[in-house]
Amino acid sequence: MPATSTLVPAAILKRKPGTRELIREKIATWLRKEAGLPADAIDDDAPLSTLGVDSLGMATISCELERDTGKRLRLEVLYDLENINQIAEYMDQMAVTPIAPTDAPLPNGEATTSPMSTNVPASLEPSLLDHYELLNRRVRTLKEHQLYFFETEISKHDGAWVEAEGRRMLMLGSYEYLGLLEHPHLKQAAIRAIEEFGTGHHGARLLTGTTTLHRQLEQKLAQFMRAEESIVFSSGYVTNLATISTLVDRDCCVIGDQWNHASIVDGCRMSGAEFMVFEHNNIDSLAAKLEAAAPRRTLVVVDAVFSMDGDIIDLPPIVDLCKKHRALLMVDEAHSLGVLGKTGHGIQEHFGFDDDAIDVKMGTLSKTLASSGGFVAGREEIITFLRHHARGYIFSGALPTSQTSTAIAALEVIEREPLLIRRLWGNLDYYLHGLRELGFDIGRTETPIVPVMTKTEAITLEMTRLCREQGLLVVPVAFPAVPLNAPRLRTCISSLHGQSEIDFALDVLATAGRKTGLIG
Ligand code: PMP
Repeated sequence: MPATSTLVPAAILKRKPGTRELIREKIATWLRKEAGLPADAIDDDAPLSTLGVDSLGMATISCELERDTGKRLRLEVLYDLENINQIAEYMDQMAVTPIAPTDAPLPNGEATTSPMSTNVPASLEPSLLDHYELLNRRVRTLKEHQLYFFETEISKHDGAWVEAEGRRMLMLGSYEYLGLLEHPHLKQAAIRAIEEFGTGHHGARLLTGTTTLHRQLEQKLAQFMRAEESIVFSSGYVTNLATISTLVDRDCCVIGDQWNHASIVDGCRMSGAEFMVFEHNNIDSLAAKLEAAAPRRTLVVVDAVFSMDGDIIDLPPIVDLCKKHRALLMVDEAHSLGVLGKTGHGIQEHFGFDDDAIDVKMGTLSKTLASSGGFVAGREEIITFLRHHARGYIFSGALPTSQTSTAIAALEVIEREPLLIRRLWGNLDYYLHGLRELGFDIGRTETPIVPVMTKTEAITLEMTRLCREQGLLVVPVAFPAVPLNAPRLRTCISSLHGQSEIDFALDVLATAGRKTGLIG
């Protein structure tokens, strides 16, 4: 992957008046309309990610800028530009370029037209195919440079190790925190369910898709989460989308932490409610949003553990604030179920809350529970309401019974084998100590999700390449999944890792870290 400097010319021409203002206006409109964020004091030097612009926003804004200026903006270049000033400078050096075929070169010498644009009519509006082509260019560049590290094909599992890309590698990027993926109790449960019920289902849950296993799982989840009832969806993503968009509507407000998972953000947007975002883990910021939301009915949604940083939400003051404002509180326990709390019961156990402190207890079956699907546990009236109004539940086929019974078996194992949780936290202590000794910046993690901060996207990709070459499967994460200035390897520890395997991981990371200059 070319470093930023090769995509963005160092000698940027002087900015003409107007461009910066136009970009600011587009960003402000997008922030207000799509992200529900205030947009009155936009700093031209602030990284776009800190302003709240995500990848979708970037694509929308760049399309509008193209239409208004007649200049073809390449999204992959925009990704490498940090702030409004840089984008304005980049745009001002471009000639007005009709979307129709042209040979006018871009600042870095490449042709402005994509292979597809020869078919494009001479209009300023790019066709859909042309637009996809533009967005796909970044993927192609990564592939051409052998730096595309996504959808790695795993051909074999062997405990903490996998076979991928023809090589045996230690898995250090899995959400499967307790190592249950090959647990005999789970495998037998899945096989038994297939033998009894077959591989699929008879349709949607409300019609002919419900089996005794589905009800057993919902009762087990309700008991595990200390709630009256629960409802199971076909994925964690769908759970957030369907639940949030059903619990609130355009007469309501929904407030979320700035670092919430994309599925929560998408659910908030889909609901039509006024969507407000509070600063990450900042109770004063949430209090201000709750004041602004009053007297409308309000839902507050947060992650228990943040999936890219591994820090834990400061929930006790949020519970109090929600009670004070009569707001409903929803917590996504995707990364805390089976992880937080002495017996793995999640954030409620971690903070020692009463059973009714959290109104909507959302979780996934796809991480610690080594299955797939998602759920919500809570008061009976909430669950009954969701069961009969959530479109992602009503109009989608049931969870396959193999996954349903796998999740039941996983909950049983968590209850029977508390040693797994102690092992996970012991492994984590050992790993964190090793990383700190080596001098890595690991952000603010408190859980088995451990980011290894890598400063630039180029170092992130090189670290990934070096680690994989030495047999360590790590995952690179860069903008737009995380802020532009905070790329990282997202590593995850599991109870399956032995001490010798963690030592191996630390050795490989240390060698790669020294080669890339990340550590001394
Ligand atoms: N919530 C969080 C916090 C997540 O990290 C994820 C997935 N990474 C989801 C929801 C979606 O869950 P699923 O993968 O089961 O669809």
